[in-house]
Amino acid sequence: MNIGNHGGSCHHSCCLRVQNLSVQIGSDTILKDIDLHVHCGEMVALIGPNGAGKSTLLKTVLGQQEYSGIISFSVPGQRTRRPKIGYVPQSPAFDPGDPVTVMDLFACCMSKRPAFLGPSKAMRQKVLDCLDRVHGEDLIDKRVGTLSGGELQRVLLALALEPLPNVLILDEPLSGVDVEGMSALMDMLDEIRQRYDLSILMTTHDFAMLPKYADQVVLIDHTVIISGTPLHVLGSDAFYQVFHRKGGLL
Ligand code: ADP
Ligand code: MG
Repeated sequence: MNIGNHGGSCHHSCCLRVQNLSVQIGSDTILKDIDLHVHCGEMVALIGPNGAGKSTLLKTVLGQQEYSGIISFSVPGQRTRRPKIGYVPQSPAFDPGDPVTVMDLFACCMSKRPAFLGPSKAMRQKVLDCLDRVHGEDLIDKRVGTLSGGELQRVLLALALEPLPNVLILDEPLSGVDVEGMSALMDMLDEIRQRYDLSILMTTHDFAMLPKYADQVVLIDHTVIISGTPLHVLGSDAFYQVFHRKGGLL
């Protein structure tokens, strides 16, 4: 296992580099010989059928999973060994009856102040500033369980952007979001990527979004099947084989 700044050659400025990565859980090989480069400022979409190992790969990059191989980072102008990584997990379910508000959610993630004292004015302003990054100031007093899929994703995104990361990782941010919401969320991710100069690695099953938004698509099924531009991957025989041979099972 090795995490460090990469020394190998890469044509572009490479922010996250995964080389020869394998993950074994018990007797199962979940990932094998994965190679993946996320260049600085790029949006990379990780696609593959259910059970292909997409979430496992994200968790491995996040340092939550044992692996063999190399994961390396390089952030221009920074000497840090590890970049800051923001993570939006696959949509957690919140109970609509649960009284937790967006403000409460931020407060418990960001503040050490006991909840019964209520948030300070400064904390409320800080949360408003965080929500402003996703145009979501109006959500601050809403109950988390009553948010639409798109609103919940924006709140989780705002949480992942504090502090501002170098790499933003999202696991299926479009699932549970309606079609209009999907474009709005992708537009927002694109805007955030450019405004804050960060790289995005996300998993999705919504392939129609990819040509417009992704710089690179990586198709995995326990190992990398094909990677390249959206049109290259989506138009490939390998893509057809993986998704149609399996009866369209995503
Ligand atoms: P995807 O996100 O592509 O649907 P996952 O990464 O969630 O796939 O899972 C890939 C495979 O790894 C699945 O077969 C899953 O059952 C298995 N897996 C994931 N996490 C664990 C774990 N902690 N223990 C055992 N098997 C796991
Ligand atoms: Mg998954």
